[in-house]
Amino acid sequence: TLSERLTGALSDLRGKGRLSETDIDATCREIRIALLEADVALPVVRQFVKQIKDRARGAEVSEALNPAQQVVKIVNEELIGILGGETRRLRFAKNPPTVIMLAGLQGSGKTTLAGKLARWLKNQGHTPMLAACDLQRPNAVNQLQIVGGRAEVEVFAPEPGNGVGDPVDVARRAIADAKSRQYDVLVVDTAGRLGVDEDLMRQASDIRDAVTPDEILFVLDAMVGQDAVNTAEAFRDGVGFDGVVLTKLDGDARGGAALSVREVTGQPILFASNGEGLDEFDVFHPDRMASRILGMGDVLSLIEQAEQAFDAGQAEAAAKKMGEGDFTLEDFLEQMMSVRKMGPIANILGMLPGAAGMKDQLANVDEKHLDRVQAIIRGMTPAEREDPKIINGSRRLRIANGSGVGVTDVNQLVERFFEARKMMKNMAGQFGLPGMGGGGR
Ligand code: GDP
Ligand code: MG
Repeated sequence: TLSERLTGALSDLRGKGRLSETDIDATCREIRIALLEADVALPVVRQFVKQIKDRARGAEVSEALNPAQQVVKIVNEELIGILGGETRRLRFAKNPPTVIMLAGLQGSGKTTLAGKLARWLKNQGHTPMLAACDLQRPNAVNQLQIVGGRAEVEVFAPEPGNGVGDPVDVARRAIADAKSRQYDVLVVDTAGRLGVDEDLMRQASDIRDAVTPDEILFVLDAMVGQDAVNTAEAFRDGVGFDGVVLTKLDGDARGGAALSVREVTGQPILFASNGEGLDEFDVFHPDRMASRILGMGDVLSLIEQAEQAFDAGQAEAAAKKMGEGDFTLEDFLEQMMSVRKMGPIANILGMLPGAAGMKDQLANVDEKHLDRVQAIIRGMTPAEREDPKIINGSRRLRIANGSGVGVTDVNQLVERFFEARKMMKNMAGQFGLPGMGGGGR
Protein backbone atom coordinates (compact mmCIF):
# COMPACT_ATOMS: atom_id res chain seq x y z
CA THR A 1 0.00 0.00 0.00
CA LEU A 2 0.93 3.65 -0.24
CA SER A 3 1.52 3.83 3.49
CA GLU A 4 3.84 0.86 3.48
CA ARG A 5 5.83 2.14 0.55
CA LEU A 6 6.17 5.61 1.92
CA THR A 7 7.12 4.32 5.32
CA GLY A 8 9.64 2.04 3.67
CA ALA A 9 11.15 4.86 1.64
CA LEU A 10 11.45 7.03 4.69
CA SER A 11 12.72 4.39 7.06
CA ASP A 12 15.72 3.81 4.81
CA LEU A 13 16.83 7.22 5.97
CA ARG A 14 16.78 6.29 9.60
CA GLY A 15 20.05 6.28 11.37
CA LYS A 16 21.72 8.46 8.77
CA GLY A 17 23.60 11.29 10.38
CA ARG A 18 23.44 13.46 7.31
CA LEU A 19 21.57 13.16 4.02
CA SER A 20 23.56 13.07 0.82
CA GLU A 21 22.21 14.08 -2.55
CA THR A 22 22.08 10.36 -3.38
CA ASP A 23 19.96 9.62 -0.31
CA ILE A 24 17.50 12.33 -1.24
CA ASP A 25 17.31 11.18 -4.86
CA ALA A 26 16.73 7.58 -3.85
CA THR A 27 14.03 8.52 -1.38
CA CYS A 28 12.30 10.77 -3.88
CA ARG A 29 12.37 8.00 -6.46
CA GLU A 30 10.68 5.67 -3.97
CA ILE A 31 8.08 8.28 -3.11
CA ARG A 32 7.38 8.82 -6.79
CA ILE A 33 6.81 5.11 -7.39
CA ALA A 34 4.64 4.87 -4.30
CA LEU A 35 2.41 7.71 -5.48
CA LEU A 36 2.14 6.43 -9.03
CA GLU A 37 1.18 3.00 -7.79
CA ALA A 38 -1.45 4.62 -5.63
CA ASP A 39 -2.98 6.13 -8.77
CA VAL A 40 -2.16 9.69 -7.89
CA ALA A 41 -2.46 11.86 -11.00
CA LEU A 42 0.88 12.33 -12.75
CA PRO A 43 1.08 16.13 -12.63
CA VAL A 44 0.39 15.98 -8.93
CA VAL A 45 3.13 13.39 -8.44
CA ARG A 46 5.66 15.49 -10.35
CA GLN A 47 4.93 18.63 -8.42
CA PHE A 48 4.94 16.79 -5.12
CA VAL A 49 8.26 15.05 -5.63
CA LYS A 50 9.94 18.20 -6.87
CA GLN A 51 8.78 20.05 -3.80
CA ILE A 52 10.09 17.35 -1.47
CA LYS A 53 13.42 17.30 -3.23
CA ASP A 54 13.89 21.05 -3.10
CA ARG A 55 12.96 21.25 0.52
CA ALA A 56 15.02 18.23 1.60
CA ARG A 57 18.11 19.68 -0.06
CA GLY A 58 17.61 23.04 1.54
CA ALA A 59 16.69 21.68 4.95
CA GLU A 60 18.49 23.36 7.76
CA VAL A 61 20.34 21.40 10.38
CA SER A 62 17.90 20.99 13.20
CA GLU A 63 18.58 20.57 16.89
CA ALA A 64 15.46 18.62 17.61
CA LEU A 65 15.16 16.36 14.58
CA ASN A 66 17.51 13.99 12.83
CA PRO A 67 17.62 14.02 9.01
CA ALA A 68 15.16 11.16 8.62
CA GLN A 69 12.68 12.89 10.86
CA GLN A 70 13.18 16.10 8.93
CA VAL A 71 12.28 14.39 5.67
CA VAL A 72 9.24 12.76 7.28
CA LYS A 73 8.22 16.18 8.46
CA ILE A 74 8.62 17.68 4.99
CA VAL A 75 6.71 14.85 3.31
CA ASN A 76 3.96 15.21 5.86
CA GLU A 77 3.69 18.94 5.37
CA GLU A 78 3.56 18.57 1.61
CA LEU A 79 0.91 15.85 1.91
CA ILE A 80 -1.19 18.14 4.06
CA GLY A 81 -0.68 20.83 1.43
CA ILE A 82 -1.94 18.78 -1.49
CA LEU A 83 -4.84 17.55 0.61
CA GLY A 84 -5.88 21.16 1.04
CA GLY A 85 -4.01 22.45 4.08
CA GLU A 86 -6.62 23.76 6.45
CA THR A 87 -9.81 21.92 7.28
CA ARG A 88 -12.56 23.47 5.16
CA ARG A 89 -15.77 23.82 7.13
CA LEU A 90 -19.22 23.90 5.67
CA ARG A 91 -20.47 27.44 5.01
CA PHE A 92 -23.91 28.30 6.22
CA ALA A 93 -26.12 30.90 4.59
CA LYS A 94 -26.92 34.11 6.43
CA ASN A 95 -30.55 33.60 5.57
CA PRO A 96 -31.65 30.02 6.06
CA PRO A 97 -32.15 27.57 4.65
CA THR A 98 -28.60 26.81 3.67
CA VAL A 99 -28.90 24.82 0.46
CA ILE A 100 -26.43 22.01 -0.08
CA MET A 101 -26.61 20.26 -3.41
CA LEU A 102 -25.02 16.86 -3.95
CA ALA A 103 -23.72 15.97 -7.39
CA GLY A 104 -21.83 12.98 -8.71
CA LEU A 105 -22.03 9.80 -10.70
CA GLN A 106 -24.54 7.08 -9.96
CA GLY A 107 -23.31 4.87 -7.17
CA SER A 108 -20.84 7.42 -5.88
CA GLY A 109 -22.71 7.53 -2.59
CA LYS A 110 -24.84 10.69 -2.80
CA THR A 111 -27.99 9.30 -1.25
CA THR A 112 -26.10 7.57 1.52
CA LEU A 113 -24.22 10.79 2.12
CA ALA A 114 -27.44 12.80 2.27
CA GLY A 115 -28.47 10.74 5.29
CA LYS A 116 -25.07 10.98 6.95
CA LEU A 117 -24.83 14.69 6.39
CA ALA A 118 -28.33 15.30 7.71
CA ARG A 119 -27.62 13.23 10.78
CA TRP A 120 -24.36 15.06 11.35
CA LEU A 121 -26.05 18.44 10.93
CA LYS A 122 -28.75 17.40 13.34
CA ASN A 123 -26.15 16.42 15.90
CA GLN A 124 -24.68 19.89 15.50
CA GLY A 125 -27.99 21.42 16.43
CA HIS A 126 -29.27 22.15 12.94
CA THR A 127 -32.69 21.30 11.56
CA PRO A 128 -31.93 19.67 8.22
CA MET A 129 -34.34 18.48 5.56
CA LEU A 130 -33.61 16.24 2.62
CA ALA A 131 -34.96 16.86 -0.88
CA ALA A 132 -35.46 13.90 -3.20
CA CYS A 133 -34.51 15.26 -6.60
CA ASP A 134 -33.34 12.00 -8.12
CA LEU A 135 -36.37 11.04 -10.16
CA GLN A 136 -34.30 9.03 -12.60
CA ARG A 137 -34.18 5.67 -10.94
CA PRO A 138 -37.51 4.13 -9.96
CA ASN A 139 -36.48 3.46 -6.41
CA ALA A 140 -34.40 6.52 -5.69
CA VAL A 141 -37.03 8.53 -3.86
CA ASN A 142 -37.88 5.59 -1.70
CA GLN A 143 -34.22 5.00 -0.92
CA LEU A 144 -33.84 8.58 0.29
CA GLN A 145 -36.93 8.21 2.44
CA ILE A 146 -35.46 5.15 4.10
CA VAL A 147 -32.16 6.89 4.62
CA GLY A 148 -33.95 9.93 6.05
CA GLY A 149 -35.94 7.70 8.36
CA ARG A 150 -32.79 6.16 9.71
CA ALA A 151 -31.24 9.57 10.23
CA GLU A 152 -34.51 10.75 11.77
CA VAL A 153 -34.82 13.75 9.52
CA GLU A 154 -37.57 15.15 7.34
CA VAL A 155 -37.61 14.23 3.63
CA PHE A 156 -39.30 16.32 0.98
CA ALA A 157 -40.40 14.02 -1.84
CA PRO A 158 -42.71 14.42 -4.82
CA GLU A 159 -46.14 12.88 -4.39
CA PRO A 160 -46.08 9.38 -5.85
CA GLY A 161 -48.12 8.44 -8.89
CA ASN A 162 -47.83 11.61 -10.96
CA GLY A 163 -45.60 10.04 -13.58
CA VAL A 164 -42.00 11.14 -13.95
CA GLY A 165 -41.73 14.44 -12.14
CA ASP A 166 -39.44 17.33 -12.76
CA PRO A 167 -36.48 17.39 -10.37
CA VAL A 168 -36.08 21.14 -10.79
CA ASP A 169 -39.65 21.67 -9.71
CA VAL A 170 -39.21 19.36 -6.73
CA ALA A 171 -36.10 21.26 -5.70
CA ARG A 172 -37.94 24.59 -5.85
CA ARG A 173 -40.86 23.32 -3.85
CA ALA A 174 -38.52 21.76 -1.31
CA ILE A 175 -36.88 25.12 -0.66
CA ALA A 176 -40.22 26.82 -0.20
CA ASP A 177 -41.30 24.08 2.17
CA ALA A 178 -38.07 24.24 4.16
CA LYS A 179 -38.43 28.00 4.44
CA SER A 180 -42.01 27.99 5.56
CA ARG A 181 -41.45 25.23 8.11
CA GLN A 182 -38.16 26.75 9.26
CA TYR A 183 -35.72 24.02 8.46
CA ASP A 184 -32.31 25.65 8.40
CA VAL A 185 -30.46 23.35 5.99
CA LEU A 186 -31.74 21.69 2.85
CA VAL A 187 -29.70 18.84 1.40
CA VAL A 188 -30.61 18.23 -2.23
CA ASP A 189 -30.02 14.69 -3.47
CA THR A 190 -29.73 14.49 -7.25
CA ALA A 191 -29.59 11.82 -9.92
CA GLY A 192 -26.36 10.45 -11.33
CA ARG A 193 -25.47 8.43 -14.41
CA LEU A 194 -23.05 5.63 -14.82
CA GLY A 195 -20.76 7.86 -16.83
CA VAL A 196 -20.37 11.53 -17.47
CA ASP A 197 -22.89 12.67 -20.11
CA GLU A 198 -24.62 15.81 -21.31
CA ASP A 199 -28.05 15.00 -19.93
CA LEU A 200 -26.62 14.49 -16.50
CA MET A 201 -24.74 17.76 -16.58
CA ARG A 202 -27.74 19.65 -17.93
CA GLN A 203 -30.04 18.33 -15.24
CA ALA A 204 -27.54 19.09 -12.53
CA SER A 205 -26.99 22.63 -13.75
CA ASP A 206 -30.75 23.18 -14.08
CA ILE A 207 -31.23 22.20 -10.46
CA ARG A 208 -28.27 24.37 -9.53
CA ASP A 209 -29.79 27.38 -11.29
CA ALA A 210 -33.15 26.80 -9.69
CA VAL A 211 -31.95 26.53 -6.11
CA THR A 212 -28.68 28.56 -6.16
CA PRO A 213 -26.98 26.31 -3.60
CA ASP A 214 -24.73 27.73 -0.93
CA GLU A 215 -22.56 24.68 -1.35
CA ILE A 216 -22.39 22.28 -4.26
CA LEU A 217 -20.63 19.17 -3.07
CA PHE A 218 -19.16 16.84 -5.62
CA VAL A 219 -19.42 13.29 -4.31
CA LEU A 220 -16.55 11.11 -5.41
CA ASP A 221 -16.10 7.39 -4.96
CA ALA A 222 -12.48 7.12 -3.79
CA MET A 223 -12.18 3.59 -5.14
CA VAL A 224 -12.35 4.54 -8.81
CA GLY A 225 -8.66 5.37 -9.18
CA GLN A 226 -7.39 7.39 -12.13
CA ASP A 227 -10.90 7.86 -13.49
CA ALA A 228 -11.70 9.98 -10.48
CA VAL A 229 -9.68 12.83 -11.87
CA ASN A 230 -11.51 12.85 -15.21
CA THR A 231 -14.91 12.69 -13.58
CA ALA A 232 -14.00 15.47 -11.21
CA GLU A 233 -12.84 17.67 -14.07
CA ALA A 234 -16.03 16.98 -16.02
CA PHE A 235 -18.20 18.00 -13.07
CA ARG A 236 -16.08 21.05 -12.39
CA ASP A 237 -16.54 22.21 -15.97
CA GLY A 238 -20.13 21.04 -16.39
CA VAL A 239 -21.74 22.01 -13.10
CA GLY A 240 -19.05 23.53 -10.94
CA PHE A 241 -18.70 22.69 -7.28
CA ASP A 242 -17.43 24.24 -4.06
CA GLY A 243 -16.14 21.18 -2.36
CA VAL A 244 -15.63 17.46 -2.56
CA VAL A 245 -16.87 14.59 -0.46
CA LEU A 246 -14.83 11.42 -0.72
CA THR A 247 -16.80 8.26 -0.19
CA LYS A 248 -15.78 4.63 0.25
CA LEU A 249 -12.47 5.58 1.76
CA ASP A 250 -12.82 2.34 3.70
CA GLY A 251 -12.26 0.45 0.47
CA ASP A 252 -9.54 2.68 -0.89
CA ALA A 253 -6.25 1.04 -0.13
CA ARG A 254 -4.38 3.39 -2.40
CA GLY A 255 -5.35 6.93 -1.60
CA GLY A 256 -4.92 8.22 -5.13
CA ALA A 257 -8.24 10.04 -5.43
CA ALA A 258 -7.77 11.80 -2.14
CA LEU A 259 -4.35 13.03 -3.15
CA SER A 260 -5.31 14.11 -6.65
CA VAL A 261 -8.72 15.68 -6.45
CA ARG A 262 -7.86 18.83 -4.60
CA GLU A 263 -4.86 19.65 -6.79
CA VAL A 264 -6.69 18.83 -10.00
CA THR A 265 -9.94 20.66 -9.29
CA GLY A 266 -8.69 23.37 -6.97
CA GLN A 267 -11.56 22.62 -4.59
CA PRO A 268 -11.18 21.35 -1.04
CA ILE A 269 -12.37 18.07 0.42
CA LEU A 270 -14.96 18.76 3.09
CA PHE A 271 -16.08 15.36 4.26
CA ALA A 272 -15.08 11.74 4.01
CA SER A 273 -17.22 8.62 4.21
CA ASN A 274 -15.70 5.37 5.27
CA GLY A 275 -18.49 2.88 5.45
CA GLU A 276 -22.15 2.30 4.80
CA GLY A 277 -23.27 3.12 8.33
CA LEU A 278 -24.78 6.44 9.24
CA ASP A 279 -21.90 7.33 11.52
CA GLU A 280 -19.12 6.26 9.22
CA PHE A 281 -18.57 9.77 8.08
CA ASP A 282 -16.60 12.74 9.29
CA VAL A 283 -15.26 16.15 8.53
CA PHE A 284 -12.16 15.77 6.39
CA HIS A 285 -8.98 16.90 8.09
CA PRO A 286 -6.02 17.16 5.71
CA ASP A 287 -3.52 16.71 8.52
CA ARG A 288 -5.13 13.54 9.82
CA MET A 289 -5.43 12.10 6.34
CA ALA A 290 -1.79 12.88 5.67
CA SER A 291 -0.65 11.02 8.73
CA ARG A 292 -2.92 8.15 7.84
CA ILE A 293 -1.36 8.00 4.40
CA LEU A 294 2.11 8.27 5.82
CA GLY A 295 1.18 5.39 8.08
CA MET A 296 3.03 7.02 10.90
CA GLY A 297 0.03 8.26 12.78
CA ASP A 298 1.06 9.71 16.03
CA VAL A 299 4.74 9.69 15.20
CA LEU A 300 4.13 12.85 13.24
CA SER A 301 2.58 14.67 16.11
CA LEU A 302 5.50 13.44 18.16
CA ILE A 303 7.92 15.00 15.76
CA GLU A 304 6.03 18.22 16.08
CA GLN A 305 5.99 18.01 19.82
CA ALA A 306 9.60 16.96 20.00
CA GLU A 307 10.50 20.19 18.32
CA GLN A 308 8.55 22.09 20.91
CA ALA A 309 9.49 20.08 23.96
CA PHE A 310 13.12 19.59 23.09
CA ASP A 311 15.28 21.38 25.52
CA ALA A 312 18.86 20.84 24.41
CA GLY A 313 20.37 22.14 27.63
CA GLN A 314 18.33 19.92 29.88
CA ALA A 315 18.93 16.81 27.80
CA GLU A 316 22.65 17.45 27.74
CA ALA A 317 22.84 17.90 31.48
CA ALA A 318 20.84 14.73 32.07
CA ALA A 319 23.04 12.75 29.71
CA LYS A 320 26.14 13.97 31.47
CA LYS A 321 24.79 12.98 34.85
CA MET A 322 23.83 9.56 33.54
CA GLY A 323 27.34 9.02 32.31
CA GLU A 324 28.80 9.97 35.62
CA GLY A 325 26.44 7.83 37.64
CA ASP A 326 24.98 10.91 39.35
CA PHE A 327 21.55 10.51 37.82
CA THR A 328 18.94 10.93 40.53
CA LEU A 329 15.30 9.97 40.77
CA GLU A 330 14.49 13.66 40.50
CA ASP A 331 16.29 13.74 37.11
CA PHE A 332 14.48 10.62 36.14
CA LEU A 333 11.12 12.12 36.99
CA GLU A 334 11.94 15.26 35.02
CA GLN A 335 13.01 13.26 31.98
CA MET A 336 10.02 11.04 32.18
CA MET A 337 7.68 13.96 32.35
CA SER A 338 9.23 15.79 29.45
CA VAL A 339 9.06 12.60 27.38
CA ARG A 340 5.50 11.91 28.38
CA LYS A 341 4.54 15.43 27.42
CA MET A 342 5.01 14.19 23.87
CA GLY A 343 2.30 11.58 24.12
CA PRO A 344 1.85 7.88 24.81
CA ILE A 345 5.15 6.19 25.50
CA ALA A 346 4.50 3.40 22.96
CA ASN A 347 4.51 5.98 20.20
CA ILE A 348 7.68 7.58 21.38
CA LEU A 349 9.44 4.24 21.50
CA GLY A 350 8.01 3.53 18.06
CA MET A 351 10.14 6.32 16.69
CA LEU A 352 13.33 4.55 17.61
CA PRO A 353 15.11 2.80 14.76
CA GLY A 354 14.17 -0.84 14.66
CA ALA A 355 11.12 -0.38 16.82
CA ALA A 356 8.79 -1.08 13.91
CA GLY A 357 9.36 -4.80 14.45
CA MET A 358 8.32 -4.55 18.07
CA LYS A 359 4.74 -3.45 17.53
CA ASP A 360 3.32 -6.06 19.87
CA GLN A 361 5.57 -5.21 22.75
CA LEU A 362 4.96 -1.53 22.22
CA ALA A 363 1.25 -2.07 22.37
CA ASN A 364 1.82 -3.55 25.81
CA VAL A 365 3.60 -0.58 27.23
CA ASP A 366 1.43 0.21 30.15
CA GLU A 367 0.75 3.87 30.70
CA LYS A 368 -0.76 3.00 34.06
CA HIS A 369 2.53 1.54 35.14
CA LEU A 370 4.22 4.79 34.23
CA ASP A 371 1.62 6.69 36.20
CA ARG A 372 2.46 4.48 39.17
CA VAL A 373 6.17 5.13 38.79
CA GLN A 374 5.49 8.82 38.62
CA ALA A 375 3.30 8.67 41.71
CA ILE A 376 5.94 6.76 43.68
CA ILE A 377 8.67 9.27 42.89
CA ARG A 378 6.33 12.11 43.74
CA GLY A 379 5.72 10.46 47.09
CA MET A 380 9.40 10.73 47.97
CA THR A 381 11.03 13.63 49.72
CA PRO A 382 13.58 15.68 47.77
CA ALA A 383 16.34 14.08 49.80
CA GLU A 384 15.14 10.61 48.88
CA ARG A 385 14.93 11.49 45.21
CA GLU A 386 18.42 12.94 45.31
CA ASP A 387 19.92 9.95 47.09
CA PRO A 388 17.70 6.87 46.85
CA LYS A 389 20.18 4.90 48.98
CA ILE A 390 18.66 6.41 52.10
CA ILE A 391 15.29 4.82 51.36
CA ASN A 392 15.09 2.23 54.13
CA GLY A 393 12.21 -0.02 55.17
CA SER A 394 10.17 2.57 57.04
CA ARG A 395 10.64 5.14 54.28
CA ARG A 396 9.48 2.55 51.75
CA LEU A 397 6.34 1.91 53.70
CA ARG A 398 5.62 5.65 54.00
CA ILE A 399 6.18 6.18 50.27
CA ALA A 400 4.00 3.21 49.38
CA ASN A 401 1.15 4.45 51.56
CA GLY A 402 1.49 7.99 50.36
CA SER A 403 1.36 7.08 46.70
CA GLY A 404 -1.25 4.36 46.92
CA VAL A 405 0.92 1.41 45.88
CA GLY A 406 2.37 -1.66 47.57
CA VAL A 407 5.77 -1.73 49.24
CA THR A 408 6.96 -4.21 46.61
CA ASP A 409 6.24 -1.61 43.91
CA VAL A 410 8.48 0.85 45.70
CA ASN A 411 11.16 -1.80 46.14
CA GLN A 412 11.06 -2.71 42.51
CA LEU A 413 11.31 0.87 41.36
CA VAL A 414 14.29 1.61 43.58
CA GLU A 415 16.10 -1.58 42.58
CA ARG A 416 15.51 -1.05 38.91
CA PHE A 417 16.68 2.49 39.24
CA PHE A 418 19.99 1.39 40.73
CA GLU A 419 20.44 -1.21 38.03
CA ALA A 420 19.65 1.25 35.28
CA ARG A 421 21.99 3.83 36.70
CA LYS A 422 24.81 1.30 36.81
CA MET A 423 24.08 0.24 33.26
CA MET A 424 24.07 3.80 31.97
CA LYS A 425 27.39 4.46 33.59
CA ASN A 426 28.90 1.32 32.06
CA MET A 427 27.56 2.13 28.63
CA ALA A 428 28.84 5.66 28.73
CA GLY A 429 32.21 4.29 29.80
CA GLN A 430 32.30 1.80 26.94
CA PHE A 431 31.66 4.46 24.34
CA GLY A 432 34.07 6.85 25.96
CA LEU A 433 31.37 9.45 26.27
CA PRO A 434 30.77 11.85 29.06
CA GLY A 435 27.06 11.28 28.43
CA MET A 436 24.84 9.33 26.12
CA GLY A 437 24.48 12.23 23.62
CA GLY A 438 24.38 12.03 19.87
CA GLY A 439 21.10 10.20 19.37
CA GLY A 440 18.94 13.18 18.68
CA ARG A 441 21.05 14.98 16.12
P1 GDP B 1 -25.77 7.31 -5.28
O1 GDP B 1 -26.18 6.58 -6.51
O2 GDP B 1 -24.71 8.31 -5.58
O3 GDP B 1 -26.90 7.91 -4.55
O4 GDP B 1 -25.08 6.25 -4.32
P2 GDP B 1 -25.69 5.48 -3.06
O5 GDP B 1 -25.77 6.41 -1.90
O6 GDP B 1 -26.95 4.79 -3.46
O7 GDP B 1 -24.53 4.44 -2.74
C1 GDP B 1 -24.17 3.41 -3.63
C2 GDP B 1 -23.63 2.25 -2.83
O8 GDP B 1 -22.43 2.58 -2.18
C3 GDP B 1 -24.58 1.79 -1.75
O9 GDP B 1 -24.58 0.39 -1.72
C4 GDP B 1 -23.98 2.34 -0.48
O10 GDP B 1 -24.31 1.55 0.64
C5 GDP B 1 -22.52 2.29 -0.80
N1 GDP B 1 -21.75 3.30 -0.07
C6 GDP B 1 -21.96 4.63 0.00
N2 GDP B 1 -21.00 5.24 0.72
C7 GDP B 1 -20.16 4.27 1.14
C8 GDP B 1 -18.96 4.27 1.92
O11 GDP B 1 -18.44 5.30 2.38
N3 GDP B 1 -18.35 3.08 2.11
C9 GDP B 1 -18.87 1.92 1.60
N4 GDP B 1 -18.22 0.80 1.84
N5 GDP B 1 -19.98 1.88 0.86
C10 GDP B 1 -20.63 3.04 0.62
MG1 MG C 1 -28.85 8.17 -5.13
